[in-house]
Amino acid sequence: RGATPVPPDERPRLTVLSGPSGVGKSTVVGHMRKEHPEVWLSVSATTRKPRPGEQHGVHYFFVTDEEMDKLIANGELLEWAEFAGNRYGTPRAAVLEHLEAGVPVLLEIDLQGARQVQESMADAQLVFLAPPSWEELVRRLTGRGTESPEVIERRLEAARTELAAEPEFDTTLVNTSVEEVARELLALMNVV
Ligand code: 5GP
Repeated sequence: RGATPVPPDERPRLTVLSGPSGVGKSTVVGHMRKEHPEVWLSVSATTRKPRPGEQHGVHYFFVTDEEMDKLIANGELLEWAEFAGNRYGTPRAAVLEHLEAGVPVLLEIDLQGARQVQESMADAQLVFLAPPSWEELVRRLTGRGTESPEVIERRLEAARTELAAEPEFDTTLVNTSVEEVARELLALMNVV
């Protein structure tokens, strides 16, 4: 931030990691954050309540419904979507500032958001994280233990729809191993 802007043709492509809930996106992203702090991960705003261990400003900006309304009305979000009863959105300014400074930026967002980014940022690269199998995805969604049966059912329903969107993406990575997927993602971002 505040760094000298790099010429437009030398700016990194915005990379979007999407895929069904429970596929392991945040595990991959958490691993990358530790090993490669030079990649900047956008912090989304959400109306969802924090899970144990989640910190404001680190995992999400936890906002009220009214605050989310304002962010949307003021055009401050690059994209936003409603997912399983909560709203999530990517603050626009920080993403653009980092890209302009030549910093590789990663968004970890749902499919509806990925589609909006595809529309508004033509050169973004969209990466789909796929589960090794449907059974494995069900196991992960059921096993998290932090959500009610109703919430799990909503997430499974969303996951079924989301799996069908894979062909819309530039690249698919299958989440067999966190380390392997993180490596492949970094290679796509030209970081290693
Ligand atoms: P969770 O509640 O499990 O943290 O996230 C639920 C879903 O919302 C995940 O698929 C996650 O990728 C997605 N998500 C998180 N932040 C954003 C965002 O800023 N925009 C959109 N469209 N989806 C997001």
